[in-house]
Amino acid sequence: MKTLILHHDDCLKHDPGPRQPERVERVTSVLAGVRHLPGTELLPAPQATLEQIERVHSPKFWEELVELEPKADARGQRAVLDWDTFLSYGSIDATLRGSGAACFALDQIDAGKAKNAFCVVRPPGHHAEVSAAMGFCLLNHVAVAARHALAMNYAERVAILDFDVHHGNGTQHIFESSPEVLFVSSHQMPLYPGTGYPDETGCGNIVNLPLSPGSGGAEFREAWSGRGLPAVRDFQPDLVIVSAGFDAHEKDPLGQLELRDEDYGWITAEIHAIANDFCTGRLLSMLEGGYDLDALASASAAHVEALTA
Ligand SMILES: [Zn+2]
Repeated sequence: MKTLILHHDDCLKHDPGPRQPERVERVTSVLAGVRHLPGTELLPAPQATLEQIERVHSPKFWEELVELEPKADARGQRAVLDWDTFLSYGSIDATLRGSGAACFALDQIDAGKAKNAFCVVRPPGHHAEVSAAMGFCLLNHVAVAARHALAMNYAERVAILDFDVHHGNGTQHIFESSPEVLFVSSHQMPLYPGTGYPDETGCGNIVNLPLSPGSGGAEFREAWSGRGLPAVRDFQPDLVIVSAGFDAHEKDPLGQLELRDEDYGWITAEIHAIANDFCTGRLLSMLEGGYDLDALASASAAHVEALTA
């Protein structure tokens, strides 16, 4: 069966402004890296529904976000949400395609129409909290996806694995009292957003694997092999969701974890094996960070090649 690649050109409408690392070319680079790989099929992402969003985010937060978005006659203007998070005309459409891609991918996988999926969307999601946008993120797409899977009875136990160089604070907070969701994250520490210590364990469902700046593929693999992947196997998920950030790459300007393309291929193959062992292969991956355009193309290609294997 195929690996779906989900994307929509509305994701290009979000414009945080000049000199912002989270920019349009990120997704065009990823698409250039993955869209022609054998075993994939590119499909357009629909918009998420209000019901899907409000399984995670507060209605007041969403209403305010929609209200704050600059309208068509204010192109070029931006609403400031925090020091690095902005809304332009088109940002709402962009983030709706991200959460919509995730839910649609799960519908397709559950219907047996695809084996797994990779959503090439922006802005990313894992820093977004229930009632706050932050760290480039507006809606938390992996959280919306996990709640969609649980609500639709696609899954009873969802493991979210996050290998972005930054800690997925939003995802952790959203699920820290939800034993039906396991969250495992490797990330550089110290680094934005400052959360992700090993003693943040939720209700026993959070596993944080902080890595020191300058550590590389060997330390990354040791952290996942030693603690992260065994925790996922012990949890016995029936669905795996990945927060796939490529900013731990050695070329990335925002992180110092020195990973290479083959490390992304390795972790994806390990996660794929868990999905095969426990989830009949069902696996959803969402693009999170990654700010070097060449590294985005090559590391995401290594990721998708492992998904199609
Ligand atoms: Zn990141």
